Amino acid sequence: MPVSEFSLIDRYFAVQGLHRADVALGIGDDCAVLRPPADQQLVVTLDTLVADVHFFAATDPENLGHKALAVNLSDLAAMGATPAWATLGLTLPKVDEPWLACFMKGLFGLADRHGVQLVGGDTTYGPNTAITMQAHGFVPAGAALRRDGARPGDLVYVTGALGDAGLALAVAGGQTTVPTEHHRYVQARLERPEPRIAQGLALRGIASAAIDISDGLAQDLGHILERSGVGVRLDVAYLPLSPALIASLNQDAALTTALTGGDDYELCFTVPPERIAQLETVAAAWDCRCTRIGAITAEPGLRPIRADGSAFFLERLGYDHFG
Ligand code: ADP
Ligand code: MG
Repeated sequence: MPVSEFSLIDRYFAVQGLHRADVALGIGDDCAVLRPPADQQLVVTLDTLVADVHFFAATDPENLGHKALAVNLSDLAAMGATPAWATLGLTLPKVDEPWLACFMKGLFGLADRHGVQLVGGDTTYGPNTAITMQAHGFVPAGAALRRDGARPGDLVYVTGALGDAGLALAVAGGQTTVPTEHHRYVQARLERPEPRIAQGLALRGIASAAIDISDGLAQDLGHILERSGVGVRLDVAYLPLSPALIASLNQDAALTTALTGGDDYELCFTVPPERIAQLETVAAAWDCRCTRIGAITAEPGLRPIRADGSAFFLERLGYDHFG
């Protein structure tokens, strides 16, 4: 590398303005030294983005920096955790300083908004760009939202709208087109997902189970069903579709994209009937939609149903790297 690893660290990683009081020692030593709050549990997650697998190599680096952290914060949101710290593992084929400056700008922009401090990482050479981020957050002991708490009779909800990122991917793959007035929205939904942190926090004590949707609603809700030992009746007519998705695809294709398209980074969660009033109260303050899309059943399996009661057929559930 023409620029030393150490000058990169000083120039691009150790420059965040935000300094948390619970970081005793941040970037610059062999390890970070952190002080988790005494009464809370530490919640930890890690996600990797690989060039040409998870993103196009030509992706705007600022958006990529945002997304690398956003996908991790989305996992914390799904657990009802308050984000605190992050670490970053970067593998780069070459040192492209303008690229790195934009990447870190996008990453720190989102980090600062959620009070997250970058406390360490590693930077190495490799033939392809790969970005690994770990994020750490806190929950009061026992309060984490998990996948295994859904019970028959619970209602199923999602935040935001579904399928927009899947639509953007279909456009990139040349399978479909989007009317010009919706281009920016659809691209932003793929490249700059907003982690639903406030929603996850509000759902503590209300949701019986939760997951973030990264590989398609059908597949990810399937994980709740499996872990909880239940099934679901999904009313496809209730699925929240954006005006962009409705304007771009016929109705069945739009529903299929909402059910199976990846990269939504919305939350899917279940709520016992006696807590619905509480949910409605907190959701009224959200900056995104909150939509009931079905009900948990004792009978196992995922059953998408049309408004007339007939089954909505799905060829595949969602995205699976090895499937
Ligand atoms: P070591 O070789 O002991 O693992 P490094 O020289 O890799 O240490 O890192 C020096 C410091 O810079 C450490 O605090 C490390 O966490 C930080 N660091 C290195 N790369 C990154 C990165 N990509 N993002 C954030 N911090 C980084
Ligand atoms: Mg190192």
